[in-house]
Amino acid sequence: MISLDEQFIKTELEIEKMQAAGHVNALVLEEIKKLIKPGVSTRDLDRTAETIIRDHGGIPTFKGYPGPYPYPATLTISINEEMVHGIPSGRELMEGDIVSVDCGTTLDGYIGDSAFTQGVGEIGEEGSRLIRVTRESLYKGIEQILPGKHLGDVSAAIQEHVENFGYHVPRQYTGHGVGRQMHEPPQVPNFGIPGQGLVLKKGMTIAIEPMVLVGTHKTRVLSDEWTVISADHSLTAHYEHSVAVTANGPLILTKVKES
Ligand code: MG
Ligand code: MG
Repeated sequence: MISLDEQFIKTELEIEKMQAAGHVNALVLEEIKKLIKPGVSTRDLDRTAETIIRDHGGIPTFKGYPGPYPYPATLTISINEEMVHGIPSGRELMEGDIVSVDCGTTLDGYIGDSAFTQGVGEIGEEGSRLIRVTRESLYKGIEQILPGKHLGDVSAAIQEHVENFGYHVPRQYTGHGVGRQMHEPPQVPNFGIPGQGLVLKKGMTIAIEPMVLVGTHKTRVLSDEWTVISADHSLTAHYEHSVAVTANGPLILTKVKES
């Protein structure tokens, strides 16, 4: 049986800390959803996100994240054919764009990581369907989270839902363990075989993040060395939640906590 190093299994206290970080991350995304409108620059959205995180005593997890060069912003904002890792800039959102926003918050040493895709004003039928299917595939994956299930059950549930609609999942970009680091083991692919891979265990915390492309599973990276686009420039979408495996099933960590 494949097992995960015990150091990545979280205690209940650690899971509570991740929920607190996830709560702040969710507040950021809720605010950004309201601000997505034609004419808003992605840099303005990024500044708002950083302010909210810092006002809550958190640190933007993505800022300075190692890569080709340290990641320069709080959010990744990826528009239309951009799938993930788009860098905020002076670019203004336009009516009809579909925008994927990903955010990470570190609070008290623990991380929440989540993402959504939203249309700007009126969007076309393909964009609406893509966003809906991508969101649904996230919850199809989350439903599989239970001790004793395999990671392959999560991956396959996502892949099956996406491919039922004729869409594609990337091969090189995956979900991941999350907690004290943004990327911990294991990798959580958006494709897989039921009953295969790591066995889920209480206290595991993973970021499930379906990325979905309309025309191809192939991607390429732009000359800024961060932004990942669909190789055929077809539309893409991305949803993500950080989730803990509990005895009772999935606990979504990156949502606004009712007080
Ligand atoms: Mg993310
Ligand atoms: Mg992630």
